Amino acid sequence: MALYNARKGFNVGLTVGGINLNRGFHVIAGPCSVESAEQINAVAAHLAGKGVRILRGGAYKPRTSPYSFQGLAESGLRFLSDAARANGMISISEVMDAESLPAVAERVDILQVGARNMQNYSLLKKLSQVSKPVLLKRGMSATIEEFLLAAEYVLQGNDRIILCERGVRSFEPLTRNMLDLAGVALLRELSHLPIIVDLSHSTGRTDIVTPLAQACVALGAEGIMVEVHPNPSAALSDADQALSFDDADCMLEAIEPWVELRTRLEAQRERSEGRARSTSTIVTAASSGAQRAR
Ligand code: PEP
Ligand code: MN
Repeated sequence: MALYNARKGFNVGLTVGGINLNRGFHVIAGPCSVESAEQINAVAAHLAGKGVRILRGGAYKPRTSPYSFQGLAESGLRFLSDAARANGMISISEVMDAESLPAVAERVDILQVGARNMQNYSLLKKLSQVSKPVLLKRGMSATIEEFLLAAEYVLQGNDRIILCERGVRSFEPLTRNMLDLAGVALLRELSHLPIIVDLSHSTGRTDIVTPLAQACVALGAEGIMVEVHPNPSAALSDADQALSFDDADCMLEAIEPWVELRTRLEAQRERSEGRARSTSTIVTAASSGAQRAR
């Protein structure tokens, strides 16, 4: 596979707003679309109170139908960034084209490239020139190699990139897309880039998000993305997959012991790797000393 900058071991950490995305388990949550200042403030205040630090919300929406809600554009960005700031969070929103890139880059902390734009190479080239981190979603029918090569476009000039698995198109009608957890495991083997798993767009449902979130912790993903709405049935987009505040609270509570266990296991591994490294240094020094003595 022709990877240059996305390969494992190339980079060591992506920090945004004081959050190191290469360490720990991060939850990105918020509504599919920013619908009003009141709506996004309510979501931000609730989630921040539960320890969520990254607020999502679409202002420019890629909708299948031109008759569906298209997003609040610049005012949506303003509502999102104000709500994030007021609640001590950082923000992420989708950039759909070069035209809206300056407005999105000015307002939000992380720029999201949607599944439909993963192969929009002119947009990816533009994003290689910006100083903000980019979350790149996997295209609906993209292979792992195509996904990583799309990331390479951004990496030409911008090394702050996050991969996002959001499921691929399949024959299964009961889930919106097919979540490729094998792909996530593989991406972690192939690349150093942080990986977020979008459990809302991959499943299109709310009832299986919690066990999948636990699986993502166990798998070693850097985090998950979920859609949360104060009144899911009234959401202007993706109502079927929006978690209510109660759903979100239950999910966050259910992953806590898993995150704690992972943190403990990682610390244990780092300690034993550190011990192995210092032992091998002693062995090497001792054997070179022995060689000199001979
Ligand atoms: C989104 O996250 O708002 C979105 C539209 O997702 P995707 O690009 O994965 O369909
Ligand atoms: Mn959505």
